[in-house]
Amino acid sequence: MGPLVVANWKMNGSEQLLQAVVQQVEGLIGPTGIKVVLALPAPYLSLTKGFDDTQIEWAGQNVHWLKSGAYTGEVSASMLLELGAGWSLVGHSERRQYCAETDEMVLEKTKACLALGLRPIVCVGENLQERQAGKALEVVCRQLLGVLKGVPRDLAPLIVVAYEPVWAIGTGEEASPEIAQEVHAALKRAARKEIDTVALRVLYGGSVNADNAAVLMSMPDVDGVLVGGASLDALGFRRLCEQVAGSV
Ligand code: PEP
Repeated sequence: MGPLVVANWKMNGSEQLLQAVVQQVEGLIGPTGIKVVLALPAPYLSLTKGFDDTQIEWAGQNVHWLKSGAYTGEVSASMLLELGAGWSLVGHSERRQYCAETDEMVLEKTKACLALGLRPIVCVGENLQERQAGKALEVVCRQLLGVLKGVPRDLAPLIVVAYEPVWAIGTGEEASPEIAQEVHAALKRAARKEIDTVALRVLYGGSVNADNAAVLMSMPDVDGVLVGGASLDALGFRRLCEQVAGSV
């Protein structure tokens, strides 16, 4: 599978931006072999049915672990599927930080996705304090194994992991390619040790842009990127996708 570019719009965007991004990016997918997934605010997912023949894929930014119920503001896996999403982010650090999502909740959300065939993009990452204390690998492997140990083994290959160091998200300070490589390799090793048949795909996220995407992608264990701020400018995002495509 070619490299994966996932755009996380967070609570940003508009119908106009959606049209502009689709227009800029869809022509790149077939010729380059990259895969582009847009993680949109849930209301915009309902607009994606208008882009019937595009090869762009769609993702939720969050998903609840229950099928339905009195959980105001939440979205279930079946609702995401109904709107045409094939993916969902799970455990983004902003949800862990602002919505108090725990490793246990991240596992339940991942299981809810897998049960319906929605592919989870599980986000892991250490904060600055943890990195400075030399605990980065321990933290991300704990977050990953918390998920892998709890999901049905045969469904584990559907999981994609995004390594997103919290100190690099939205700060303009991306991890160095060497740091990304070290962490990605450690995550893949930990995954193989837990489930020997799993060939985990690991994306890097945190201040990725059109200028640093290619060098990050040049690392052997970086299988794609998760992009926040730089996905909100249609032309810039196209340039970023071109850099990713050119790196393979
Ligand atoms: C993100 O929030 O997933 C992210 C990677 O953000 P940014 O690219 O803006 O750092």
